[in-house]
Amino acid sequence: MAATSFEQALKTYFGYDSFRSGQEVLIADTMAGRDVLGIMPTGAGKSVCFQIPALMSGGVTIVVSPLISLMQDQVSSLVQSGIAAAYINSSLNERQMAKVLNNAVNGEYKLVYVAPERLFAQDFLNFAVSADVSMLTVDEAHCISQWGQDFRPSYARIPEFVQRLPRRPVITAYTATATPRVRSDIADLLGLRDPRVLVSGFDRPNLCFEVRKPKDKLAALLALLDKRRGKTGIVYCSTRNTVDEVCAKLKNAGYAASRYHAGLSDTERHDNQDDFLYDHAQVMVATNAFGMGIDKSNVSFVIHYNMPMNIEGYYQEAGRAGRDGEPADCILLYAAKDVRTNKWLIENSRDNTYADSAAQQRVKQRDIKRLNEISLYCATNDCLRSYILSYFGETPPDTCGNCSNCLRSFKTVDITVDAQKILSCVFRLNESYGMNMVVSVLRGSKSEKVTRPGLHRLSTYGISEKSDKRLQEIINYMILSGYLRKTADKFPVLQLGERAVSVLRGGEKVFMKIARAEKAVIETVPEAVPSVQRGAASDGINGDLRARLKELRLKIAHEQGVPAFVILHDSTLTDMCAKLPTTREELLGVSGIGQKKADSYGGRFLQSISEYLNSR
Ligand code: ADP
Ligand code: ZN
Repeated sequence: MAATSFEQALKTYFGYDSFRSGQEVLIADTMAGRDVLGIMPTGAGKSVCFQIPALMSGGVTIVVSPLISLMQDQVSSLVQSGIAAAYINSSLNERQMAKVLNNAVNGEYKLVYVAPERLFAQDFLNFAVSADVSMLTVDEAHCISQWGQDFRPSYARIPEFVQRLPRRPVITAYTATATPRVRSDIADLLGLRDPRVLVSGFDRPNLCFEVRKPKDKLAALLALLDKRRGKTGIVYCSTRNTVDEVCAKLKNAGYAASRYHAGLSDTERHDNQDDFLYDHAQVMVATNAFGMGIDKSNVSFVIHYNMPMNIEGYYQEAGRAGRDGEPADCILLYAAKDVRTNKWLIENSRDNTYADSAAQQRVKQRDIKRLNEISLYCATNDCLRSYILSYFGETPPDTCGNCSNCLRSFKTVDITVDAQKILSCVFRLNESYGMNMVVSVLRGSKSEKVTRPGLHRLSTYGISEKSDKRLQEIINYMILSGYLRKTADKFPVLQLGERAVSVLRGGEKVFMKIARAEKAVIETVPEAVPSVQRGAASDGINGDLRARLKELRLKIAHEQGVPAFVILHDSTLTDMCAKLPTTREELLGVSGIGQKKADSYGGRFLQSISEYLNSR
């Protein structure tokens, strides 16, 4: 099938092969001139939904965004991808501001990010009124609703700003907050016209959810961190005191920990945040004040030291893990005391946003209801992911196989040897037979369909003692996880998948989950803790090379003065290690490498890979 022009833009600029669910619909509607309200969780990929229309449209797109750090990261990433963009906020001095606005007036940017407070500044208005504004994007759009978590009065003036423009642009709004009340508030208050409302992609399959009820939380936390040395993560606590206490304990225990809460000075908050973003601090201990707009992609765990107030907040915070698509853990440490503390906080909150006491009472009731719902999350024995997704209005399957409740009923087994046998059999069969033939050959079938073409002479004939059914299960699993490919023909044929090479040559181990009840059927290699296994599975791919590439990435990041993840995501490094590109063409086949990145530093990565290959 021919790629659409949207897909081409995705590939050229961002280096990705295909859209995630919902993205293309939103882009197509935006380009057709329809307003859009996109509700997708953190990490689902909202940005490209407005960035692609922005760069494909004639004029300029104004993006209203509430946070300086968010703007900076997005703009750096755009520039790295070869897209002209700039931001306007209080971090610029007068001279810089004048320069950016001057460039903007001259039409040099496709996207201009702006803080809501700046919309009515005279020089900004001058620019906006004289420019050809093709689209206005409101990021974190829930900030306009008093029912959202972070109401920002300056968002309320956005419609007034739109009225000042000579021509009403397409308006697109994005948020991760999903409650129906907030959704309709956004559409009403922003004055969206017959908007396409799309709720999608709340599932984050790479996140493993877990609830623990430890007697001693600190001991539990230390044990969890001990298994994750060298990895980056966030520990959320409900109060500033707890943050200080836990951070000090972690430092004592030898961790590069930092802290963040509203009680610290601006300078310390800022410095600590940078330490975390730039990988100087591995663990950030913080209240929920930390993280909105933290676009750090390689956070591999988020641990909640206390139960948060509601599922919305929890999912948003937990969702900061694994934004690069790598496996990541979201662990909630529950204690009954957390419920009492939260109840007290709700009952004693003095929220000045709501003038009359009736409204205040309603908000308290709503908060108590939400508190009950997250308490149920901590209590349920059913699938945690399913609980969350149902909460957000999706209809997920009953089990996910990747949360602590599902994992209790599933067991992870090492199927590396089986996988190797299957892959070499597919290879020996010249990647031109279907699943049944592969199974028959592996099982040493004497049937004529095997012997007539002489397939019983293959070295992989009869090397498996597993049952046909088990082999089929394993093959299906290998197709799902990218070790094998099944062609879309009428008689589908099995081929080696993109991950096959690292199993056949790179020593990558393959793990598969099976229901516990079936344990006796399959002979297993000793079981390890799931998180350790998953780490091993991805680190095992050319560990050396990965370290080299990481070093190179850090070097380039330093040269350019941006965080490492703005240069390349971890998932891009992983893909690079699996594909081992040696030409520019092959490099462009790596997920996350667009034309601009290939031009700017692709050569240096190719060089590093070829040095590595030669040194083996
Ligand atoms: P959000 O704004 O929804 O929190 P982002 O827009 O920051 O999420 O996207 C999260 C990550 O997913 C980013 O690293 C982004 O580059 C990546 N991403 C977005 N769309 C795709 C896609 N179609 N294929 C692969 N990765 C994608
Ligand atoms: Zn589950």
